[in-house]
Amino acid sequence: MALIVQKYGGTSVGDFDRIRNVAGRIARTFDKGNQVVVILSAMSGVTDKLINTAEQITEFPDKREMDVLLSTGEQTTVALMAMTLKSMGYKAKSLLGYQAEILTDSQSCSARILDIGATRLTELLAENHIVIVAGFQGCDAAGDITTLGRGGSDTSAVAVASGVGADQCEIYTDVDGVYTADPNICKKARKLDQISYDEMLEMASLGAKVLQIRSVEFAMKYNVPIHVRSSFNEEVGTMVVSEDANMEKVIVSGVTHNKNEARITLKKVPDTPGIASRILSPVSEAGIIVDMIIQNTRSGHMTDLTFTVGKTDYKAAMDVSKKTAKEINAEEVLGDENIAKISVIGVGMRSHYGVAAKMFTTLAAENINILMISTSEIRISCVIEEKYTELAVQSLHTAFGLDQE
Ligand code: ADP
Ligand code: ASP
Ligand code: MG
Repeated sequence: MALIVQKYGGTSVGDFDRIRNVAGRIARTFDKGNQVVVILSAMSGVTDKLINTAEQITEFPDKREMDVLLSTGEQTTVALMAMTLKSMGYKAKSLLGYQAEILTDSQSCSARILDIGATRLTELLAENHIVIVAGFQGCDAAGDITTLGRGGSDTSAVAVASGVGADQCEIYTDVDGVYTADPNICKKARKLDQISYDEMLEMASLGAKVLQIRSVEFAMKYNVPIHVRSSFNEEVGTMVVSEDANMEKVIVSGVTHNKNEARITLKKVPDTPGIASRILSPVSEAGIIVDMIIQNTRSGHMTDLTFTVGKTDYKAAMDVSKKTAKEINAEEVLGDENIAKISVIGVGMRSHYGVAAKMFTTLAAENINILMISTSEIRISCVIEEKYTELAVQSLHTAFGLDQE
């Protein structure tokens, strides 16, 4: 007997047939003699629709109430799933985040999980229940409902798996595993049998939305191996695990793209000490995370400073920057939402050179202009015009020898 945590994403529970299909999979796992905890997302499109509804009421909805609203998506699916399983003759019970004792901090809409009090879960499992837990939501110390940020059900699953000491944590989604690039835009992408936490962390943070970044951080910290696989077939998926010696042999293991950033440029600002802080401090004080930053030195003691932020923060960041620009006498503020960040990732980069040069040459051969560059030990990212995203991903995928035969 094993204790298995299974998480099903929005597409996997997107309609009633799919809910029945997932109920069948859960039942089969239980019938093999396993204890099963299931984490569910909202039905696909539901969270987006709820966000849209709130934005029709007010441009900047209150974040605490947003948590209350968004958590209803997952509340619906867990109830429907528990009903389905009960109608099939199984003992099942749905739990919301607070009932499953998922304690978070109080950061509305992007709360972090602090602790899982597994008492109730363990009791229900001991009574032979299949336990269905609402993903994406928790509860802070004051008893307020919180949500974990988009894609947060992945993190719920890994946290619950670690909290109950699960033998397996399976993330069921609409693709067969983690691929060398998003299989929906790169037809030659290959499914990986395994990937290291470090690489998965970079891939998740650079746009591979198959796992939420915090779920990978959590898995790495508590050493929870994750099996990413499809809910539509029985194929073995991808294991996300600790790095082993063989992984270093592969120089580049994936190419990612992210269309969710925008860039802001302050033109002709005085090139004096402290100017970057003068521009970027108000942005961070507004609770906005800045990703890439470049500063060009120009003649006449003036410089341009460019940075990128998430598209959801773009409007707010523009407002803040325009205010600063006036105060420091910058010439103007330019914004661009039509950009994409393309990255190549691989732990093998630590011990190989020439990856950056190859990336730049490949993009140049396709006549794609590079707007910004950033690197870490195991990845290189370039910002380009959004319209070249597919072309860039596909040509880099081929250039780094990742195409499937
Ligand atoms: P779920 O609703 O199951 O949580 P998501 O939509 O959040 O699913 O994540 C799955 C999607 O992630 C896939 O449909 C795919 O388009 C996208 N994706 C992006 N990059 C990758 C990658 N490298 N490997 C697999 N999927 C990827
Ligand atoms: N329903 C939430 C979202 O769409 C959480 C999730 O699906 O993981 O972001
Ligand atoms: Mg997801």
